[in-house]
Amino acid sequence: MTRRWLFADQLGPHFAPGRDGVLLVESRAALGRRRYHRQKLHLVLSALRHRAAELGDSAVVLRTDTYGEALAEIGEPVRVYEPTSHAADDFVRRRLASGEVEGIDPTPGFSLPREDFAQWAGGRRRLRMDDFYRFQRQRLDLLVEGDRPVGGRWSFDEDNREPPPKGADTLGVPAAYRPRESDIDAEVRDDLDRWTREDGLETVGEDGPRLFAVTRREALAALERFVTHRLGPFGPHEDAMLRGDWAMAHSLLSVPLNLGLLSPVEVAERAVQALHDGDAPLASVEGFVRQVIGWREYVWHVYWHAGPAYRRRNGLGARTALPAWWGELEAERVDAACLSDVLEGVRDRGWVHHIPRLMVLGNWAAQRGYDPDALTEWFQTRFVDGYDWVMPANVVGMSQHADGGAMATKPYVSGGAYIDRMSDYCGGCRYNPRKRVGDDACPFTAGYWAYLDRNADRLEGNHRMARPLQGRHRLIDLEALVEQERARGDSPP
Ligand code: SF4
Repeated sequence: MTRRWLFADQLGPHFAPGRDGVLLVESRAALGRRRYHRQKLHLVLSALRHRAAELGDSAVVLRTDTYGEALAEIGEPVRVYEPTSHAADDFVRRRLASGEVEGIDPTPGFSLPREDFAQWAGGRRRLRMDDFYRFQRQRLDLLVEGDRPVGGRWSFDEDNREPPPKGADTLGVPAAYRPRESDIDAEVRDDLDRWTREDGLETVGEDGPRLFAVTRREALAALERFVTHRLGPFGPHEDAMLRGDWAMAHSLLSVPLNLGLLSPVEVAERAVQALHDGDAPLASVEGFVRQVIGWREYVWHVYWHAGPAYRRRNGLGARTALPAWWGELEAERVDAACLSDVLEGVRDRGWVHHIPRLMVLGNWAAQRGYDPDALTEWFQTRFVDGYDWVMPANVVGMSQHADGGAMATKPYVSGGAYIDRMSDYCGGCRYNPRKRVGDDACPFTAGYWAYLDRNADRLEGNHRMARPLQGRHRLIDLEALVEQERARGDSPP
């Protein structure tokens, strides 16, 4: 006699109902606990309500202020799958102790159980993503022949770093799957409007048409569209940015994956099938498979393995508060063409792909010494695919190098030259990526050198940074540059 309480990110069929059906809870407190992007709340609510409609009579749907109230109202013990945040984990464990939760089952949302990761991590000194990824490929029998990787290499990353095609405004690939909004979306929009107007719900970012899949049917259609039409060009251009093409050839599957609508293994297997069907080349398939069963699962396990304290690591002593224009996504106040366009994307869609996140937003934040914990919160709430488990490793580890190099061997900072090579932003910018001092000095180029100068002592032992650190001594204008960037303060560039 058990009902299964499924959380709002456990909505696919692999999260099995209990024998007595399902409990779904819409907690008003959870929606308003943080200042989320308006479209993030829309997606979560829409997904939850669509799932409730699919389950019909087998689901009890409770709209309560808190989860505790929902458990009291249902009045019988429920089973749960491992939730996806430390706070929710604490909550269900307390309720397990009190008897309101009957049991906690391993989540089917990720391919590797947490105990198995702990075993893999064992006595390893460093938890390298590349090692984990190989382990996953072999374990799941994906793109391997015996012990060897298909094509002779585990990673085709080097083939997947092409700049955008010269002179092109868009990548020119078939459009991504675009869902059609339903009556449920209209109802969600009305509710969010009303709660904002009458109940003081505070969101950030603009509302807009729903761009991401929120049902199993939509998620499968999005997956099919991607693997048959877009996966091929995804690989070579996965790091490129074009002002006129926000989606490029990216899958846009992070939202349905993180809502639990697709299982990572089925997604990776479908991509491998595309290779066999001749729909996509090996380098593209490998790059995508690495994202799904490599990086995504690695980030998940680091979240649990490193514990809640990981998020507060601050190895470079970065303490700058996030400025208001950044927090409010005020793209129109930013002159720097790259940063303005990317912030606009976050404001209008709550989504930009991994390179604008890493090499524009993260790069800027690192250069300015934004506090990593506050920045993690910013990414988590401003992005439609952001969740508590997603951002710490991505932001604290990968992007801000704040974990002392436990995850990334060097900081992901660069000057304007990288952005110029990988995008079409600089041509239309009032700044010049080659200039580091003066009115038209690129704030990313100047910021890069100021970052190295500020963090020189802390990065000194990192052999991958030896050359850049040495390079700053050759700049005759280093002092003026550092002063220029100090004077910029927290103004938008
Ligand atoms: Fe960005 Fe600098 Fe290029 Fe302008 S010149 S788009 S600020 S990298």
